[in-house]
Amino acid sequence: MDKLIKNGILVLPQGHSKGDLLLQGEKITAVGEGISYDPLKTEVVDAEGCLVFPGFIDTHTHFQLDNGRFISPDDFAAGSRAAILGGTTTILDFATQNRGETLAQGLANWQDMAKDKTSCDYGFHLAITEWNQQISREIKEIAAAGVTSFKVYMAYDNLRLKDREIFQIMKKVDEIGGIVGCHCENGDLISCLTAELREKGEMSVRSHPLVRPAQVEAEAVYRYLTIAEMAGVPVNIVHLSSSRGLAVVEEARARGQEIYVETCPQYLLLEDSRYELPPRQAAVYVFSPPLRKPADQQALWQAAAGGRVDTIGTDHCSFNIAGQKEQGLEDFTMIPNGIPGVGHRPQLLYTYGVAAGKISLETMVRLLAENPAKLFGLYPRKGVLAPGSDGDVVIWDPDKVSRIEARTQAHQVDNTPYESFEVKGGVRAVYLRGRLTADGKELLEAGKGCYLSRGPSLRFRQQ
Ligand SMILES: [Zn+2]
Repeated sequence: MDKLIKNGILVLPQGHSKGDLLLQGEKITAVGEGISYDPLKTEVVDAEGCLVFPGFIDTHTHFQLDNGRFISPDDFAAGSRAAILGGTTTILDFATQNRGETLAQGLANWQDMAKDKTSCDYGFHLAITEWNQQISREIKEIAAAGVTSFKVYMAYDNLRLKDREIFQIMKKVDEIGGIVGCHCENGDLISCLTAELREKGEMSVRSHPLVRPAQVEAEAVYRYLTIAEMAGVPVNIVHLSSSRGLAVVEEARARGQEIYVETCPQYLLLEDSRYELPPRQAAVYVFSPPLRKPADQQALWQAAAGGRVDTIGTDHCSFNIAGQKEQGLEDFTMIPNGIPGVGHRPQLLYTYGVAAGKISLETMVRLLAENPAKLFGLYPRKGVLAPGSDGDVVIWDPDKVSRIEARTQAHQVDNTPYESFEVKGGVRAVYLRGRLTADGKELLEAGKGCYLSRGPSLRFRQQ
């Protein structure tokens, strides 16, 4: 059956206005007013009083992450279910090439985890942790397999690369029209600061932000952007958390560099006083980079509103307190890093961004759908309500009011950093490639997500 979604407020790149949307097969075939359709073949869906968004895209998830000691409980089935229930129809997860593996092996490991279990559409970035001539030659092959975005780390001893390797990766990835994102934190400084606190016996959860202050991020951002300037390529920075880091980006942009920036809801909505909570509660907030000050949140909101932050991803990487995070209460370095978030991002941005008057509806869609689709080679197939695009559509009830609770969330973990947050707005229906996949209460079709082979990055800051 075709579907005509009628009388909703369509949120389009050029503005929002009342209109209709026709879904035929897997695609959107018409957008606007007075669309003609065949009444015998078409189900009419009344979206009066609702907003109609393109399916949201979260380009930063870590489902079923194995950190060597623990596996995060949200696997591709649970994580993608939470995504769909919250209005996110596409995720990009980080496949990682472990040292000693080829890039193709890294990708195959993640393809196996996701296959037939994922309820939203999905693709992968590839994190490179070892670089040599043979791996360099693989980049083309990997791009042909639909992976055009890569990630490098400047922190974590088992993941980080040398500056010269990052330089070479940037140049190689630029040849295929892809983009390299970076976890910008100075790993050496983190190790030194941690060793000093260990010496003093100050290893409680409160010490976590002390070894990763904003300087540690800002220095790495500066170095990463310097490497990019030398390589002459645009780059992406993932999970930017501080106003100091942002200032470094702004200076480099003023010199003409093309830089894309992601931040996350946690850096917009939570502050570092959370680390003063009793250890079991504070452990929820152990992720990296850590939470910052209210002034950092404000700077990031302004940048998001002003088009200086390009995408908002969650860095979803959930771990339980029971049996997992609680193991590190005496030594914060043993707490698995990460929080859930994939299911809550649209509601959080709608409530604390749009309804609070910080960002417009159009900006919300740019940050959560359009820009991620462009930067990661999915546009205009994803990220926009337009004829020819996939029928990924969210009917959003702006009057829904609810409260986030670990007990009731779709994420398969025992905690959420947003416990007791009131949220406005919520999903009434989610369509994935033209099929009703969630109805605001339940997932109606599990495991129907497709792997997305992606094209080159559409570098929209250049235009
Ligand atoms: Zn991450």
